[in-house]
Amino acid sequence: MSASKKHEITIIYGDGIGPEVVTSTRTLIDAACPNIVWETAEAGAEVFKKGIASGVPQETIDSLNRTRVALKGPLETPVGFGEKSANVTLRKLFETFANIRPVREFPGVPTRFSGAGIDMVIVRENVEDLYAGIEHMQTPDVAQCIKLITAKGCEKIMRTAFEFARSEGRKSVACATKANIMKKTEGLVKSTFERIAKEYPDIESWHIIIDNCAHQLAKKPEQFDVIVTTNMNGDIISDLGSGLIGGLGFAPGANIGHDVAIFEAVHGSAPKYAGKDTINPTAMILSGVMMLRHIGEFEAADKIENALLYTLESGVHPRDVVTDTPPVGTKAFTDAILKNFGKKPVNWKTRERTPMKVPARPATTAINKVEKRETIGLDVFVEFDGTAAEIGPKVEAACKGTGFKLKIVSNRGTVVYPLTGTSPDVVNQWRCRLYLEQPVVEPAMAQVNGLLESIEGQGLRWMHIEKLCKFDGVESFTKAQGEN
Ligand code: NAP
Repeated sequence: MSASKKHEITIIYGDGIGPEVVTSTRTLIDAACPNIVWETAEAGAEVFKKGIASGVPQETIDSLNRTRVALKGPLETPVGFGEKSANVTLRKLFETFANIRPVREFPGVPTRFSGAGIDMVIVRENVEDLYAGIEHMQTPDVAQCIKLITAKGCEKIMRTAFEFARSEGRKSVACATKANIMKKTEGLVKSTFERIAKEYPDIESWHIIIDNCAHQLAKKPEQFDVIVTTNMNGDIISDLGSGLIGGLGFAPGANIGHDVAIFEAVHGSAPKYAGKDTINPTAMILSGVMMLRHIGEFEAADKIENALLYTLESGVHPRDVVTDTPPVGTKAFTDAILKNFGKKPVNWKTRERTPMKVPARPATTAINKVEKRETIGLDVFVEFDGTAAEIGPKVEAACKGTGFKLKIVSNRGTVVYPLTGTSPDVVNQWRCRLYLEQPVVEPAMAQVNGLLESIEGQGLRWMHIEKLCKFDGVESFTKAQGEN
């Protein structure tokens, strides 16, 4: 890309330490790449205070729609109450489905793993999974969050991981899942990974169970190159990763979508450090470096990265690096980097990179085509304050004359009726697994309504139903624990 090409970029300073780390990053980018035109936009705490429940005002949405690229500071989210995260809202509104988080050991930043050669990238799915934000109190005592995993989402994240690996000349992609337990959701992640991996025969692909992945990350992190994983797993292991190389002050990130990309550090707003000039801007600066590469400004990116690493290598560092030399403040650290423009660290090799191909948006919502579908029953979730021995006969009575028969009742996923002779604790949410006497393509609404009325007639309050299907003969559901 030409050095004189103007780039319009949305800049969001964010909350807490956001303004300090974003200002530091902007100062360096302005010095290395003068052809950036910044458009300041707001999101987060100040916006919530104005009464905008999403934390993202329309002006910010308009700005991003125009510029397609943002440099963003961390945004504060109330924990356990209040409005939804403005970060997640931004990621979801702009479908930035991939979160790319490099984890690389830095010169001049001593850690337990110094010298091991950690240099990996975690590619985290960014909009689905438990972060789809579909939550309900199913009873006053039982909360549920839906873990939404889609074939489309899986395809996109897998292709991104392999494309990213190619763009950086990386050799292997590991997919970390919990498919041994969550056979449908995490299972879809694993099977999609295995399918897409075949399109990239030049890159080694392997699967690892996420808990072992965490164990291996703590034990022998240098074995990983690219790790692709789901939203929740990725959130956790990328913080783990940052802990290996010096902490959250060193963990940059990019949110990549089909149309928009948002560059931000992994860390949050660390409110206790806000305005104290002690925070480490490295994570945000390196997010800015990723942004420069994304817009094709490779030279400016290398200039900032080299100067930053030279500065760290020469012993100038912020408070979170513990060495014999005293730390400097955020501003002094930024000034030192600026002075070191043109210098290169000894113990760091800038990777050869080519622009990453962002996978195209799949044209259809139906990825896995099915020839034959049958409905074989329903899972009806009901509220009932009683015992397994009491609810079982009620459900059996409710089924009479409806065309359904009781298979099992489960509580918190474990079979409790027919009585098993075991003693799992129970709560007031029960799943009644009812099979149709005659499987059909679609059950008639009158038949389903009749069943629900009959269930209500037994004093069981239904709150949710789920179809039990077979797609091309394969059951669309998993068995309850203990179900045969
Ligand atoms: P946090 O802000 O990331 O801070 C946790 C700890 O990490 C800090 O106390 C500090 O550790 C260290 N740290 C974070 N950034 C650092 C930096 N630049 N330099 C040096 N050390 C740094 O996490 P949190 O306290 O859990 O969350 C605070 C708020 O941020 C919450 O409202 C949360 O929702 C939000 N958040 C936003 C984002 C985002 O905008 N993308 C991401 C995560 C969290 P020490 O205490 O050990 O010094």
